[in-house]
Amino acid sequence: MKDLLKGRTKCLLVRPEFLTNTFYNLSDVYDLLGAKSAAPPLGLLIVAALLPKHWQLRFVDHDVTPLTEGDIDWADIVFVSGIGPQEETIMRVVRRAQAKGKLTVVGGSGACLQPQVYQDADFVVSGEGEDTIPELLDDLGKGATSGTYRSGNRANMKTTVTPRYDLAQLDKYLMVGVQYVRGCPFACEFCAQIEIFGRQPRTKTTQQVVSELQLLHDLGYRGQIDFGYDNLIGDPVHCAKVLEAMRDWAIRNDHPFFYSTEATINLAKDDKLLRLMRDNDFRYVFVGIESADDEVLEQTKKSQNTTVSPVQACKTFNSYGMTVQTGLILGFDSETDQTADNILKM
Ligand code: SF4
Repeated sequence: MKDLLKGRTKCLLVRPEFLTNTFYNLSDVYDLLGAKSAAPPLGLLIVAALLPKHWQLRFVDHDVTPLTEGDIDWADIVFVSGIGPQEETIMRVVRRAQAKGKLTVVGGSGACLQPQVYQDADFVVSGEGEDTIPELLDDLGKGATSGTYRSGNRANMKTTVTPRYDLAQLDKYLMVGVQYVRGCPFACEFCAQIEIFGRQPRTKTTQQVVSELQLLHDLGYRGQIDFGYDNLIGDPVHCAKVLEAMRDWAIRNDHPFFYSTEATINLAKDDKLLRLMRDNDFRYVFVGIESADDEVLEQTKKSQNTTVSPVQACKTFNSYGMTVQTGLILGFDSETDQTADNILKM
Protein backbone atom coordinates (compact mmCIF):
# COMPACT_ATOMS: atom_id res chain seq x y z
CA MET A 1 0.00 0.00 0.00
CA LYS A 2 1.26 3.45 -0.95
CA ASP A 3 2.52 5.48 2.03
CA LEU A 4 -0.11 8.21 2.01
CA LEU A 5 1.49 10.22 4.76
CA LYS A 6 4.97 10.60 3.30
CA GLY A 7 4.29 10.87 -0.44
CA ARG A 8 2.82 13.67 -2.56
CA THR A 9 -0.63 12.27 -1.85
CA LYS A 10 -3.45 13.58 -4.01
CA CYS A 11 -6.30 14.48 -1.70
CA LEU A 12 -9.73 15.38 -3.05
CA LEU A 13 -11.96 17.41 -0.71
CA VAL A 14 -15.63 17.30 -1.66
CA ARG A 15 -18.76 19.05 -0.51
CA PRO A 16 -21.62 17.17 -2.19
CA GLU A 17 -24.82 18.78 -3.41
CA PHE A 18 -28.06 19.35 -1.54
CA LEU A 19 -30.91 17.41 -3.12
CA THR A 20 -33.62 19.61 -4.62
CA ASN A 21 -36.21 18.44 -2.08
CA THR A 22 -34.15 19.59 0.92
CA PHE A 23 -34.38 22.90 2.75
CA TYR A 24 -30.79 23.87 1.96
CA ASN A 25 -31.09 23.63 -1.82
CA LEU A 26 -31.57 27.27 -2.78
CA SER A 27 -30.02 27.08 -6.24
CA ASP A 28 -32.76 29.21 -7.85
CA VAL A 29 -32.18 31.94 -5.27
CA TYR A 30 -28.42 31.80 -5.82
CA ASP A 31 -28.99 32.09 -9.59
CA LEU A 32 -31.12 35.19 -9.06
CA LEU A 33 -28.43 36.74 -6.87
CA GLY A 34 -25.60 35.88 -9.26
CA ALA A 35 -23.94 33.23 -7.09
CA LYS A 36 -23.60 29.45 -7.03
CA SER A 37 -23.90 28.86 -3.31
CA ALA A 38 -24.26 30.63 0.03
CA ALA A 39 -20.75 30.22 1.42
CA PRO A 40 -17.75 27.95 0.99
CA PRO A 41 -17.79 25.01 3.44
CA LEU A 42 -15.60 26.30 6.24
CA GLY A 43 -15.12 22.93 7.94
CA LEU A 44 -13.59 21.44 4.81
CA LEU A 45 -11.28 24.44 4.36
CA ILE A 46 -10.16 24.03 7.99
CA VAL A 47 -9.51 20.31 7.41
CA ALA A 48 -7.48 21.25 4.31
CA ALA A 49 -5.29 23.46 6.51
CA LEU A 50 -4.71 20.55 8.91
CA LEU A 51 -3.44 18.18 6.20
CA PRO A 52 0.27 17.69 5.46
CA LYS A 53 1.77 20.65 3.60
CA HIS A 54 3.34 18.36 1.00
CA TRP A 55 -0.01 16.83 -0.03
CA GLN A 56 -1.64 17.98 -3.26
CA LEU A 57 -5.16 19.23 -2.60
CA ARG A 58 -8.13 19.62 -4.93
CA PHE A 59 -11.34 21.14 -3.54
CA VAL A 60 -14.69 20.51 -5.23
CA ASP A 61 -17.87 22.20 -4.04
CA HIS A 62 -20.58 20.51 -6.06
CA ASP A 63 -22.72 23.68 -5.93
CA VAL A 64 -19.98 25.49 -7.85
CA THR A 65 -18.48 22.76 -10.04
CA PRO A 66 -19.94 19.25 -10.33
CA LEU A 67 -17.70 16.43 -9.16
CA THR A 68 -16.33 14.59 -12.21
CA GLU A 69 -15.06 11.06 -12.69
CA GLY A 70 -11.74 12.70 -13.57
CA ASP A 71 -11.58 14.32 -10.11
CA ILE A 72 -12.02 10.93 -8.46
CA ASP A 73 -9.55 9.21 -10.82
CA TRP A 74 -6.97 11.88 -9.90
CA ALA A 75 -7.24 11.29 -6.14
CA ASP A 76 -5.48 8.88 -3.80
CA ILE A 77 -7.90 9.66 -0.98
CA VAL A 78 -11.27 11.42 -0.90
CA PHE A 79 -12.53 13.50 2.04
CA VAL A 80 -16.28 14.22 2.01
CA SER A 81 -17.92 16.64 4.41
CA GLY A 82 -21.47 17.82 4.93
CA ILE A 83 -24.44 18.23 7.21
CA GLY A 84 -27.26 15.79 8.04
CA PRO A 85 -29.50 16.65 5.04
CA GLN A 86 -26.59 15.73 2.74
CA GLU A 87 -26.39 12.15 4.05
CA GLU A 88 -27.55 10.66 0.75
CA THR A 89 -25.22 12.69 -1.44
CA ILE A 90 -22.27 12.20 0.93
CA MET A 91 -22.69 8.45 0.65
CA ARG A 92 -23.07 8.70 -3.13
CA VAL A 93 -19.62 10.29 -3.34
CA VAL A 94 -18.24 7.62 -1.00
CA ARG A 95 -19.59 4.83 -3.21
CA ARG A 96 -18.28 6.45 -6.41
CA ALA A 97 -14.82 6.78 -4.87
CA GLN A 98 -14.79 3.29 -3.38
CA ALA A 99 -15.83 1.81 -6.75
CA LYS A 100 -12.56 3.21 -8.11
CA GLY A 101 -10.56 1.80 -5.20
CA LYS A 102 -10.05 5.12 -3.39
CA LEU A 103 -9.95 5.48 0.37
CA THR A 104 -12.75 7.65 1.72
CA VAL A 105 -13.05 9.84 4.82
CA VAL A 106 -16.37 11.33 5.97
CA GLY A 107 -16.58 14.24 8.42
CA GLY A 108 -18.57 17.38 9.09
CA SER A 109 -21.49 18.05 11.40
CA GLY A 110 -23.50 15.16 9.87
CA ALA A 111 -20.85 12.64 10.91
CA CYS A 112 -20.36 14.46 14.20
CA LEU A 113 -23.99 14.05 15.28
CA GLN A 114 -24.70 10.65 13.65
CA PRO A 115 -21.39 8.87 12.90
CA GLN A 116 -23.16 5.51 12.65
CA VAL A 117 -24.95 6.41 9.41
CA TYR A 118 -21.63 6.85 7.57
CA GLN A 119 -20.05 3.56 8.65
CA ASP A 120 -19.74 2.34 5.04
CA ALA A 121 -17.04 4.97 4.49
CA ASP A 122 -13.50 3.76 5.20
CA PHE A 123 -12.85 6.42 7.84
CA VAL A 124 -15.39 8.42 9.85
CA VAL A 125 -14.17 11.51 11.67
CA SER A 126 -16.48 13.16 14.17
CA GLY A 127 -15.81 16.15 16.37
CA GLU A 128 -13.24 18.88 15.99
CA GLY A 129 -10.68 18.27 13.26
CA GLU A 130 -7.78 19.79 15.20
CA ASP A 131 -8.02 16.76 17.49
CA THR A 132 -9.00 13.99 15.07
CA ILE A 133 -7.15 14.74 11.82
CA PRO A 134 -3.65 14.26 13.36
CA GLU A 135 -4.82 10.87 14.70
CA LEU A 136 -6.19 9.90 11.29
CA LEU A 137 -2.94 10.96 9.58
CA ASP A 138 -0.93 8.99 12.10
CA ASP A 139 -2.94 5.86 11.29
CA LEU A 140 -2.66 6.46 7.54
CA GLY A 141 1.11 6.55 8.04
CA LYS A 142 0.87 3.11 9.65
CA GLY A 143 -1.07 1.76 6.66
CA ALA A 144 -4.56 1.78 8.21
CA THR A 145 -7.41 1.36 5.73
CA SER A 146 -10.32 2.04 8.08
CA GLY A 147 -11.11 3.69 11.38
CA THR A 148 -13.51 5.82 13.39
CA TYR A 149 -12.30 8.91 15.23
CA ARG A 150 -14.10 10.98 17.82
CA SER A 151 -12.48 14.04 19.36
CA GLY A 152 -12.26 13.92 23.13
CA ASN A 153 -10.79 17.40 23.46
CA ARG A 154 -11.99 20.85 22.52
CA ALA A 155 -9.67 22.63 20.11
CA ASN A 156 -7.70 25.62 21.34
CA MET A 157 -9.02 28.35 19.07
CA LYS A 158 -6.09 30.60 19.90
CA THR A 159 -3.69 28.23 18.15
CA THR A 160 -5.90 26.78 15.45
CA VAL A 161 -5.17 26.96 11.74
CA THR A 162 -6.35 29.55 9.24
CA PRO A 163 -8.86 28.01 6.79
CA ARG A 164 -7.50 27.40 3.26
CA TYR A 165 -9.69 30.10 1.68
CA ASP A 166 -7.32 30.07 -1.29
CA LEU A 167 -8.76 26.70 -2.44
CA ALA A 168 -12.27 28.11 -2.99
CA GLN A 169 -13.55 30.27 -5.86
CA LEU A 170 -14.66 33.01 -3.49
CA ASP A 171 -16.46 35.05 -6.14
CA LYS A 172 -18.98 32.22 -6.62
CA TYR A 173 -20.50 32.68 -3.17
CA LEU A 174 -22.92 35.14 -1.57
CA MET A 175 -20.71 35.39 1.50
CA VAL A 176 -17.67 33.89 3.19
CA GLY A 177 -17.66 32.62 6.78
CA VAL A 178 -15.07 33.70 9.34
CA GLN A 179 -15.25 31.65 12.51
CA TYR A 180 -14.28 33.65 15.58
CA VAL A 181 -15.86 31.52 18.31
CA ARG A 182 -16.90 27.94 19.00
CA GLY A 183 -19.23 27.12 21.87
CA CYS A 184 -22.07 29.01 23.54
CA PRO A 185 -22.66 29.47 27.29
CA PHE A 186 -26.41 28.88 27.04
CA ALA A 187 -28.17 25.51 27.27
CA CYS A 188 -31.13 25.49 24.86
CA GLU A 189 -32.28 21.89 24.81
CA PHE A 190 -32.81 21.72 21.02
CA CYS A 191 -29.40 23.13 20.07
CA ALA A 192 -27.00 21.04 17.99
CA GLN A 193 -24.19 23.60 18.30
CA ILE A 194 -23.56 23.00 21.99
CA GLU A 195 -23.61 19.24 21.37
CA ILE A 196 -20.78 19.71 18.88
CA PHE A 197 -18.79 22.59 20.38
CA GLY A 198 -19.76 22.67 24.06
CA ARG A 199 -20.84 25.47 26.38
CA GLN A 200 -17.51 27.17 26.98
CA PRO A 201 -17.04 29.92 24.38
CA ARG A 202 -13.59 29.51 22.81
CA THR A 203 -12.46 32.50 20.82
CA LYS A 204 -9.72 33.44 18.40
CA THR A 205 -7.39 36.31 19.25
CA THR A 206 -7.85 39.74 17.70
CA GLN A 207 -4.65 39.09 15.74
CA GLN A 208 -6.02 35.84 14.28
CA VAL A 209 -9.26 37.54 13.25
CA VAL A 210 -7.50 40.49 11.63
CA SER A 211 -5.11 38.12 9.82
CA GLU A 212 -8.04 36.18 8.35
CA LEU A 213 -9.68 39.40 7.17
CA GLN A 214 -6.37 40.46 5.64
CA LEU A 215 -6.01 37.09 3.90
CA LEU A 216 -9.49 37.34 2.38
CA HIS A 217 -8.72 40.91 1.32
CA ASP A 218 -5.42 39.82 -0.26
CA LEU A 219 -7.22 37.01 -2.12
CA GLY A 220 -9.37 39.70 -3.73
CA TYR A 221 -12.57 38.95 -1.84
CA ARG A 222 -14.97 41.85 -1.21
CA GLY A 223 -18.51 41.85 0.17
CA GLN A 224 -20.34 39.97 2.91
CA ILE A 225 -18.63 38.07 5.69
CA ASP A 226 -20.69 35.86 7.97
CA PHE A 227 -18.79 36.41 11.19
CA GLY A 228 -18.82 34.65 14.54
CA TYR A 229 -20.71 31.32 14.67
CA ASP A 230 -22.69 29.77 17.48
CA ASN A 231 -23.12 32.99 19.44
CA LEU A 232 -21.11 36.13 18.67
CA ILE A 233 -21.47 37.45 22.22
CA GLY A 234 -20.72 34.33 24.29
CA ASP A 235 -17.70 36.26 25.62
CA PRO A 236 -18.87 39.90 25.33
CA VAL A 237 -15.72 41.50 26.76
CA HIS A 238 -13.42 39.80 24.26
CA CYS A 239 -15.96 40.34 21.49
CA ALA A 240 -15.74 44.11 22.05
CA LYS A 241 -11.93 44.01 21.71
CA VAL A 242 -12.17 42.02 18.48
CA LEU A 243 -14.80 44.36 17.03
CA GLU A 244 -12.59 47.35 17.86
CA ALA A 245 -9.65 45.75 16.04
CA MET A 246 -11.88 44.90 13.06
CA ARG A 247 -13.15 48.48 12.90
CA ASP A 248 -9.61 49.89 12.92
CA TRP A 249 -8.55 47.39 10.23
CA ALA A 250 -11.57 48.32 8.09
CA ILE A 251 -10.71 52.02 8.29
CA ARG A 252 -7.14 51.29 7.16
CA ASN A 253 -8.42 49.14 4.28
CA ASP A 254 -11.27 51.27 2.97
CA HIS A 255 -14.12 49.12 4.37
CA PRO A 256 -13.99 46.13 2.00
CA PHE A 257 -16.50 44.01 3.94
CA PHE A 258 -19.91 44.14 5.55
CA TYR A 259 -21.12 41.53 8.02
CA SER A 260 -23.84 39.17 9.14
CA THR A 261 -23.83 37.22 12.39
CA GLU A 262 -25.77 35.13 14.90
CA ALA A 263 -26.25 36.26 18.49
CA THR A 264 -28.48 35.78 21.50
CA ILE A 265 -31.23 38.32 22.05
CA ASN A 266 -29.52 39.82 25.10
CA LEU A 267 -27.29 41.62 22.58
CA ALA A 268 -30.12 44.18 22.54
CA LYS A 269 -29.08 45.25 26.06
CA ASP A 270 -25.42 45.88 25.16
CA ASP A 271 -25.10 49.36 23.63
CA LYS A 272 -21.32 49.16 23.45
CA LEU A 273 -21.36 46.02 21.30
CA LEU A 274 -24.19 47.37 19.16
CA ARG A 275 -22.25 50.58 18.48
CA LEU A 276 -19.18 48.57 17.51
CA MET A 277 -21.28 46.39 15.22
CA ARG A 278 -22.65 49.50 13.53
CA ASP A 279 -19.10 50.85 13.16
CA ASN A 280 -18.16 47.59 11.41
CA ASP A 281 -21.19 47.63 9.09
CA PHE A 282 -23.03 44.61 10.48
CA ARG A 283 -26.17 44.51 8.31
CA TYR A 284 -27.84 41.24 9.35
CA VAL A 285 -28.24 39.54 12.70
CA PHE A 286 -29.84 36.14 13.23
CA VAL A 287 -31.55 35.85 16.60
CA GLY A 288 -33.40 32.75 17.79
CA ILE A 289 -36.72 34.02 19.15
CA GLU A 290 -38.16 30.47 19.02
CA SER A 291 -41.47 31.12 20.84
CA ALA A 292 -43.68 33.92 22.16
CA ASP A 293 -44.59 31.90 25.29
CA ASP A 294 -42.35 32.37 28.33
CA GLU A 295 -43.41 28.98 29.70
CA VAL A 296 -42.23 27.27 26.51
CA LEU A 297 -38.95 29.19 26.59
CA GLU A 298 -38.35 28.22 30.23
CA GLN A 299 -39.15 24.58 29.54
CA THR A 300 -36.69 24.45 26.63
CA LYS A 301 -34.03 26.20 28.73
CA LYS A 302 -34.06 29.30 26.53
CA SER A 303 -34.77 31.48 29.55
CA GLN A 304 -32.43 34.26 28.34
CA ASN A 305 -35.23 35.16 25.92
CA THR A 306 -37.68 35.85 28.74
CA THR A 307 -35.65 38.82 29.99
CA VAL A 308 -36.02 40.87 26.80
CA SER A 309 -39.09 41.78 24.76
CA PRO A 310 -38.44 40.23 21.33
CA VAL A 311 -40.28 43.01 19.53
CA GLN A 312 -38.36 45.70 21.39
CA ALA A 313 -35.09 43.85 20.77
CA CYS A 314 -35.77 43.72 17.02
CA LYS A 315 -36.51 47.46 17.01
CA THR A 316 -33.22 48.06 18.82
CA PHE A 317 -31.29 46.00 16.25
CA ASN A 318 -33.04 47.88 13.44
CA SER A 319 -32.05 51.19 15.03
CA TYR A 320 -28.40 50.11 14.73
CA GLY A 321 -28.82 49.40 11.02
CA MET A 322 -29.31 45.64 11.23
CA THR A 323 -32.00 43.57 9.55
CA VAL A 324 -33.17 40.80 11.87
CA GLN A 325 -33.49 37.21 10.74
CA THR A 326 -35.02 34.85 13.25
CA GLY A 327 -35.82 31.26 14.05
CA LEU A 328 -39.28 30.29 15.36
CA ILE A 329 -40.07 26.75 16.48
CA LEU A 330 -43.41 25.00 16.80
CA GLY A 331 -43.70 21.59 18.42
CA PHE A 332 -42.34 22.01 21.96
CA ASP A 333 -43.95 19.83 24.65
CA SER A 334 -45.52 22.60 26.74
CA GLU A 335 -47.22 24.44 23.88
CA THR A 336 -50.94 25.22 24.05
CA ASP A 337 -53.58 25.87 21.40
CA GLN A 338 -52.61 29.55 21.67
CA THR A 339 -48.89 29.13 20.98
CA ALA A 340 -49.02 29.60 17.21
CA ASP A 341 -51.42 32.55 17.51
CA ASN A 342 -49.12 34.16 20.07
CA ILE A 343 -46.23 33.94 17.59
CA LEU A 344 -48.35 35.52 14.86
CA LYS A 345 -49.43 38.34 17.19
CA MET A 346 -45.89 39.05 18.38
S1 SF4 B 1 -28.27 30.54 22.43
FE1 SF4 B 1 -28.20 29.66 20.36
S2 SF4 B 1 -26.16 28.72 20.15
FE2 SF4 B 1 -26.52 29.10 22.34
S3 SF4 B 1 -27.36 27.19 23.14
FE3 SF4 B 1 -29.11 28.46 22.58
S4 SF4 B 1 -29.62 27.92 20.44
FE4 SF4 B 1 -27.55 27.13 20.89
